[in-house]
Amino acid sequence: MREAREPVLIIGAGPAGLAVAAELRRAGVESEILERGAAVGSSWRAHYDRLTLNTCRWFSKLSHEPFPKDVGVFPTRDEWVRYLESYAERHEVLVRYGVRADRIDPCDGGWRVTTPDGDRFARRVVVATGHQHTPLLPDWPGRQAFGGRLLHASEYRNAAGFAGADVLVVGAGCSAMDIAYDLITGGAARVRMAVRTPPNLWLKRMIGMPGDLILTAFFRLPVRLADRLEAILRRVFVGDLSRWGLTAPEEGNFSRTARVGAGQNPAFVSKPVIRAIRAGRIEIVAAVESLAAEGVLLADGSVLQPDAVIAATGYTTGLVPIVGHLGLLDDKGRPRVSGGPAAAPGLHFSGYVPNINNLYHEGRRAAGEIARELADDAAVPAALAPGGL
Ligand SMILES: Cc1cc2nc3c(=O)[nH]c(=O)nc-3n(C[C@H](O)[C@H](O)[C@H](O)COP(=O)(O)OP(=O)(O)OC[C@H]3O[C@@H](n4cnc5c(N)ncnc54)[C@H](O)[C@@H]3O)c2cc1C
Repeated sequence: MREAREPVLIIGAGPAGLAVAAELRRAGVESEILERGAAVGSSWRAHYDRLTLNTCRWFSKLSHEPFPKDVGVFPTRDEWVRYLESYAERHEVLVRYGVRADRIDPCDGGWRVTTPDGDRFARRVVVATGHQHTPLLPDWPGRQAFGGRLLHASEYRNAAGFAGADVLVVGAGCSAMDIAYDLITGGAARVRMAVRTPPNLWLKRMIGMPGDLILTAFFRLPVRLADRLEAILRRVFVGDLSRWGLTAPEEGNFSRTARVGAGQNPAFVSKPVIRAIRAGRIEIVAAVESLAAEGVLLADGSVLQPDAVIAATGYTTGLVPIVGHLGLLDDKGRPRVSGGPAAAPGLHFSGYVPNINNLYHEGRRAAGEIARELADDAAVPAALAPGGL
């Protein structure tokens, strides 16, 4: 077996990987990031033009470093990318671009990372490839036969190309709402939104405050109280949208999180989107059942004939091909242990809870643990040092 020579390899130069690298450096541990893209934050560069973070500037910063003063409450996509670039520079993070990690296996004293450019061997590996990694396009019957355009939200950039078009956006999360609004303001002739499960809507801004700030405060309350307050906020600030096809979900956001675990955020939405729904400019329709040459069949039996279908239907972690054989993932392909502690000796996952706010803390925990492990390794005879599974 080949011996692990490098101390720490991090996979992915998104905010999670950068936070781990910066915190390692602060702890005096050198690391190198392998990044498949050509720059830091490459997933973000590919998102739609209108995107602004749903999390406010105070909750999106990594470590103690604030955003520049001219950045608004909700940084735009480009401001966020610039922040990541300067963060990487300030912390002198070493990134090797254009290198994709395809598989990770145990090796003598650490881990082998297989890349198209050859294998890398490291004593510690941190996987930070993003929980929204691989676009998930439902396997609707008749998908191949559909005569219109079918794309995933990850491929959508802006409304150019949809002028005068009849578009069906599938899903009711943040991206679906943003894209539907972008389309109506960008010249699409008709925009409908197919909704299966009524979303927990959460205004991006409420009572003059960022919605994520209020959300975070509510998470500290008893679940039933938080659900009750959420229902009141929804009644006051969003109002009853059932006439327009969006009923309030039966389960509150906080009960849902308590039931299914962290990783569920409400759909952050801004007031103009709510106004567009009330004005019938974004029409809510039933869930998509199947596609066919002649159109889209919905769960209520109606058939639509849109020019384009944009599936804002989420992502998977894409971790199965990389680490699926190690038995560390749950049935949804998410690491069972992440956010700091090792999932296997010397192998960590960071960034698999969908909130930038967590990334710095996760990075710090992972870095702290790795620094301690490496110090312990140095203090014991090599033969006794942890090695492999
Ligand atoms: C449209 C959209 C908007 C969002 N808005 C917000 C928001 O406002 N607030 C919030 O908290 N969260 C938001 N999120 C969630 C967001 O994905 C995460 O919070 C954040 O990006 C996670 O950072 P990350 O570093 O874990 O992942 P990413 O930012 O996805 O970074 C992963 C990096 O790993 C690289 N990579 C992937 N696979 C490999 C491989 N095999 N080998 C080498 N490199 C690899 C990628 O190229 C990428 O650079 C949003 C997500 C989407 C899709």
